[in-house]
Amino acid sequence: MKVCKFGGSSLADAGQISKVMDIVLADPARRMVVVSAPGKRNKSDTKVTDLLIALADAALAKKDTTKPLKAVVDRYASIAKELKLGEDIVKEIEKDLKARIASSKKDSGIFMDTLKAAGEDNSAKLVAEAFTKRGVKARYAGPKETGMILEGESGNATLNPESYRKLAKTFADFEGIVVYPGFFGYRKDGTVATFPRGGSDITGSILAAAIRADVYENFTDVDNVYPVDPRIVPEVKEGIDTMTYREMRELAYAGFGVFNDEAIFPAVQARIPINVRNTNHPAEPGTMIVQSRRVIPGTVTGIAAADGFCNIIIDKYCMNREVGFTHKLLDILQEEHVAYEHIPSGIDSISVVIRADKFTKSTENRVVARIKRELSPDSVLVTHNYAILMVVGEGMAFSAGMLAKATAALAEHGINISMVNQGASEFSFMIGIKSEDRVKAVRALYSAYFG
Ligand code: ASP
Repeated sequence: MKVCKFGGSSLADAGQISKVMDIVLADPARRMVVVSAPGKRNKSDTKVTDLLIALADAALAKKDTTKPLKAVVDRYASIAKELKLGEDIVKEIEKDLKARIASSKKDSGIFMDTLKAAGEDNSAKLVAEAFTKRGVKARYAGPKETGMILEGESGNATLNPESYRKLAKTFADFEGIVVYPGFFGYRKDGTVATFPRGGSDITGSILAAAIRADVYENFTDVDNVYPVDPRIVPEVKEGIDTMTYREMRELAYAGFGVFNDEAIFPAVQARIPINVRNTNHPAEPGTMIVQSRRVIPGTVTGIAAADGFCNIIIDKYCMNREVGFTHKLLDILQEEHVAYEHIPSGIDSISVVIRADKFTKSTENRVVARIKRELSPDSVLVTHNYAILMVVGEGMAFSAGMLAKATAALAEHGINISMVNQGASEFSFMIGIKSEDRVKAVRALYSAYFG
């Protein structure tokens, strides 16, 4: 059985929903369909989730909700009309939205999530209805009845692990096609909770893991995962056909846009193969993401670069002989609630790479003062506007000259390397550079490895 998740752009209008139904019906293994809320129909359009947030904001501010409510209802109404689903479903959606608006506003986070969840919930009901209208045996299944239990912060909820057992039991055996709304679930106290934005991917991944799907198909609006960001290297044509989970994770870490690495974690943990595919080009096989694959030695799978880091560089003569130096440094970071990303070190130096958005000026001042006071370094310096380049490929292991290619290409373009870090498993290395060199560096590495 396959779990197929369709993103907002795949459900933006009736034409897209018809494509979704064609895709699902083309393969009898596609039995569980996870849907997002309708997304943008064109660049200047607004996603239904954003319309719902505006509606919730208006309600919380005790403003007139007539207009923002109409904006949401109109989106569903136009889809229903084009799919010839009749008036009843639109009336039901409007009634559902009004009930949500009238619900308790005591906790504004819960209220906001209750409204946001309406996007996916009504999208699933509408798609189920569209299948039925085509004469297909399909039904809506909701998170409450099926056991998608969430916990934690509103808008940033996580899964209660008991859900896996409950979902597996619910879907141990079922007939026809199930249409399931992404993005939200219910806490044990019955309140609605949503995952972070883009969270329908998480729902799909959880369901795929729970029912032990053969494949988790994630339909979006790109043909493949590309070896480099096409916005940086527009000439990239060839996509990646197969990559491993850990390759995906490392590239996603450095800002690869297609997937949020945390979103696919449940499927990865359960070793479910993930297939990224395009709703608009269903004949394309897309990119498979799997536990292991055959590799061609000496090849790179992808290159990514993330911006927004800073680096604390600490020097101290004979640091290598000082027992507990790093421990004390990590204690300071922990006590100041600073998560670090990497700690490349030398004999007499150590640097700590941190995400800049987690390192405010006041935290920086406190951390630097404590390092000076408690570790007596020769120097401590914080550099800002730091980017991390990531070169990833299972094929790099045991192949000489992989890093040399990168350093030569960067040198040729006059890009200074401020740090190099290669993991022991040799399937990736990262290079620290100045933010201003990021785009130039990615292009240079792309032509070095793929040109
Ligand atoms: N509709 C939600 C969002 O726009 C969740 C999703 O599409 O995955 O973030």
